[in-house]
Amino acid sequence: MKVTFPHMGNLYICVKGMLEYLGIEVTMPPKTSKRTLTLGSKYGPEFACMPLKLNLGNFIEASELGAETIMMAGGCGPCRFGYYAQVEHSILQDLGYDYDIVVLEPPDKSITELTSRVRQITGKKSWWKVIQSIRYGYLKSRAVDTVELLSFKTRPRELLTGETDRALNQALKEIDRAQTVEELKLAEARGSEMMQDVAVDSNRRVIKIALIGEIFTLLEPFANLNIERHLGRLGVEVDRSIYLSEWINDHLFMGLLKGIRSTKEYCRNASPYLNHFVGGHGLETVGSVPVYAKQGYDGVIQLFPFTCMPEIVAESLLPKVSAAYNIPLMTLITDEHTGEAGMITRLEAFVDLLERKQYQNYQGARSQELEVRMS
Ligand code: SF4
Repeated sequence: MKVTFPHMGNLYICVKGMLEYLGIEVTMPPKTSKRTLTLGSKYGPEFACMPLKLNLGNFIEASELGAETIMMAGGCGPCRFGYYAQVEHSILQDLGYDYDIVVLEPPDKSITELTSRVRQITGKKSWWKVIQSIRYGYLKSRAVDTVELLSFKTRPRELLTGETDRALNQALKEIDRAQTVEELKLAEARGSEMMQDVAVDSNRRVIKIALIGEIFTLLEPFANLNIERHLGRLGVEVDRSIYLSEWINDHLFMGLLKGIRSTKEYCRNASPYLNHFVGGHGLETVGSVPVYAKQGYDGVIQLFPFTCMPEIVAESLLPKVSAAYNIPLMTLITDEHTGEAGMITRLEAFVDLLERKQYQNYQGARSQELEVRMS
């Protein structure tokens, strides 16, 4: 059985590591590309959101490499993600791709529904080994997040353009190659060193922007047109409202690991504007704006794919939240027609606006200080 699953940024490093820990053969689709999107858009429903189209393209490309079984997450609404797996499987069958599919989703009636699906992938491996593999996947996600976070700091300050990307790619390769917990610890330490070795101008004044919104678009560079890289090169230090390890702790470990940022804080902060689940991460998106404003961020960018229902709900509330917390906001919606050059122009304009605001605040603070000194 050759198992495959769709790409979502660097998630493949964790899931592949977890499956290989169990001795399961993994056939990864090539990294998401224009071809992936072309295939997905050709065969997917026109009004489906972009993640469905990219998933579909990934599965077609993985099948060309010999993949036989799809492993996918499922859900229970209210957004369309709940029936993605079934729709994608039907389309693949119509196209003649002979895939088995295992959907891991919250059970309808009893937990045995879920455990029997897990068994379809893991076979007779002991539950202890399965738990160990999940822990291993989580450790990989922590390592990925560690080096990514360092890249957010170095990219806007790097002395040689592109050095951060080079170091980050190398660090991620090392983390991906690690086969045991010991090797992984070494890879994470080496990766962190590589990131810290990037030559930077630590006195450079940077703008801080938080990226919030739909999880797939936030994590998949192809879907967000490499927004983190573009912002970094414009002198922006970014943060994301969602990281893989935090998501795993919140959703798979039920927040059992302490001292790790949780999206629950966003939900608490959303309550004056929205106090119920609207699917996806719509609620968290609304609540993340007050959190970032309180942390002194200069601006917020909401990202989501065209037709994403939970983020459309959030989008309608965000102008109110942004005004209440005096934090500038921009919304970027992507689909297969979005061009990178157009997006860069919008980013440049937004960063320009934030720089001016930061300068005005600085001048205001300086003149107040002078007034105090002279009085
Ligand atoms: S959250 Fe949005 S993008 Fe993701 S599956 Fe739901 S509707 Fe599509």
